[in-house]
Amino acid sequence: MNTPQQKIPFVDLAAQYRGIADEVRAAIEPVMANARFILGEEVRLFEQEFAAYCGAKHAVGVASGTDALYLTLCALGIGPGDEVITQANTFIATPLSISYTGARPVFVDCDPLTYQMDVKQIEAVITPQTKAIIPVHLYGQPADMDAILAIAKRNNLRVVEDACQAHGAEYRGRRVGAFGDAAAFSFYPGKNLGAYGDGGAITTDNEALAVKLRALREYGQAAKYHHDFKGFNSRLDTLQAAILRVKLKHLSDWTAARQIAAAAYAVALRAIGIEPPQQVGYGTHVWHLYIIQVAKRAKVQEQLSAAGISTGIHYPIPVHLQKAYADLGYQRGAFPVAEAAADRILSLPMFPELTQEQVRYVVENLKRCL
Ligand SMILES: *Cc1c(COP(=O)(O)O)cnc(C)c1O
Repeated sequence: MNTPQQKIPFVDLAAQYRGIADEVRAAIEPVMANARFILGEEVRLFEQEFAAYCGAKHAVGVASGTDALYLTLCALGIGPGDEVITQANTFIATPLSISYTGARPVFVDCDPLTYQMDVKQIEAVITPQTKAIIPVHLYGQPADMDAILAIAKRNNLRVVEDACQAHGAEYRGRRVGAFGDAAAFSFYPGKNLGAYGDGGAITTDNEALAVKLRALREYGQAAKYHHDFKGFNSRLDTLQAAILRVKLKHLSDWTAARQIAAAAYAVALRAIGIEPPQQVGYGTHVWHLYIIQVAKRAKVQEQLSAAGISTGIHYPIPVHLQKAYADLGYQRGAFPVAEAAADRILSLPMFPELTQEQVRYVVENLKRCL
């Protein structure tokens, strides 16, 4: 069979835009006509709609997912001398948000099959300085929240969900976003709900925390030019909020399309002897990333690339081995599961517009690499 060589991007934001271009243009035009570019109605309405989507009482729009984590830690009073526990296999932004406060990131390993935080390791690293846990709902699946919340309660710790990859993922039938004290979301363009630039939000059921975060994102002011504490300039752009309101209406359909593509991958991969990603038993996967493991990964990536297929690695170096975190003193071997996975994981193309034919083409080419 000689199909002309396809080009399969890793994500296809241009294809997505083609489907909603008219709606997006109609949404941004009034923002520009009214020349109201900071906060205002669009941000307020997006916050209301996103909170409702997540099943949380409040959402606060900020400039990025990194800031969503950082401002939340600040609002919870975390700072120098404190420790915050997260996992070694996450995007660097998770520990960076801890470092910005002056607190120290402390890592645990992950589960070898689901890549979620290994909850069995948390209590062993709790010290009198520990103030919070940041579980990451990695790749689009929820962390084991009941176990984490029980540990937090026993040890009087705060819990901040890093939900930057997991918009709409369910834990025991409820969407992530209000399990801990707060949850951080990213609207980076490639995320499941992506803006056309940077953006982020915090969701929480805690009204006092939401009020504090609204002040923190705007120079620490509760009323204009009245600054109660040293805040930041970290607001979700009004234009981005207008775009996100359009995109949020499509998110459930896009998630369903990702789940259909993931199911097609699973069948095709099993047929060639590759184990599809393991799903957690207690929740749903929104497939931000579709991760398999392969030996000789560099060669596989090169061959797929020659066939026009883009792949990724999320992430090639666990955070405890990053140069930026050499000061923490972790050595290779500290988190063997995360380290072993980092050498073998491969992210296949995954986006809502991915067709069954494209999935077949990817897996056919993968078979040739075995
Ligand atoms: C994307 C991401 C972030 C940071 O979000 P930005 O909007 O890029 O700042 C944090 N944590 C995880 C797990 C992410 O994937």
